[in-house]
Amino acid sequence: LNATYGFIGLGHMGYPMAVNLRSKIPRSARLVVFDTNRAVSDKLAEQFDGVEVANTAREVAEKSATIVTVLPRPQHVQSVIRSMLQPTKLPLDGLDKKRLFIDCSTIDPGTSGALAEEVKFSGQGDFVDAPMSGGAVGARDATLTFMVGASEELKDRVHAVLIMLGKKIVFVGPQTSGVKAKLANNYILAIANIGAAEAMRMATAWNIDITTLTDIINSSTGRCWPTEANHPVPGIIQDSPSSRGYTGGFATALMNKDLHLALMGAAQAGFEPSLGRVAHELYCEVEKDEEMKNQDCSVMYKFLGGR
Ligand code: NAD
Repeated sequence: LNATYGFIGLGHMGYPMAVNLRSKIPRSARLVVFDTNRAVSDKLAEQFDGVEVANTAREVAEKSATIVTVLPRPQHVQSVIRSMLQPTKLPLDGLDKKRLFIDCSTIDPGTSGALAEEVKFSGQGDFVDAPMSGGAVGARDATLTFMVGASEELKDRVHAVLIMLGKKIVFVGPQTSGVKAKLANNYILAIANIGAAEAMRMATAWNIDITTLTDIINSSTGRCWPTEANHPVPGIIQDSPSSRGYTGGFATALMNKDLHLALMGAAQAGFEPSLGRVAHELYCEVEKDEEMKNQDCSVMYKFLGGR
């Protein structure tokens, strides 16, 4: 049983991560998966030997010693973890190590910390936060960076699992430190994305050349990920989402979700950032457009009237 892994949430990130986990654990080890969308679990089991489809998250917990969750929002992680903790049948015979729950979802520190407490209190194992960056490409190529919040004694066990799914594992500090680091990073991104879009919108209104401007910015102090890699103006960076109609990339709705979680996390700690609140209002406006909501967040430029 100790050689059985559980995986819950087989979406854009989770599916390719589960594929990597399956290919890297020993052939004799089992991978038990669950997703509310049964079709994705069935697809994984059809594609790979040694994948067992569970009917509930609870069944995953009954059968696995190490369980990875990759779910959209705090409420999903909360309901899945709680459903696994119900006391019947647990702990399992033959499970000599306690369960390890590794949550790779981006959620708020309050929910993550409360779930870690609930898991500990139930006596059924440990819960650590390990959100990631690197996107779907990083998930596919197992080049993700994980930001982990875990106690010293869990580090080796967590590392052994995550190194199969990514290439850089940073232990930030005690439990909840990982989600805090992730949200701080995405807070900056949410604002930089608007800053870059507004600056480019200004520049087009002034009729200055965007390619020249971008070269200047990228060797000056305004340089940031949106100007270097995820440029909002179509055609400036060839393989950026803006150059393919704002498809792929990091959806506006997800960017806004992370910004909202960062604001929630800040409030939980007694700090009220001002820029983030204004940015959140703007993203909410963009989200009212059903198309832009699901397009890459650099579509902010188009929302502001850019072409
Ligand atoms: P997604 O929506 O593509 O996938 C989520 C999966 O979870 C879906 O298959 C869905 O059916 C399943 N699910 C939802 N509720 C469930 C439940 N109660 N029980 C079981 N399965 C359930 O999301 P994603 O893009 O894979 O993102 C997952 C997490 O990773 C999010 O927290 C996101 O913020 C974070 N993240 C995403 C990216 C990215 O580029 N997509 C990058 C870094 C971090």
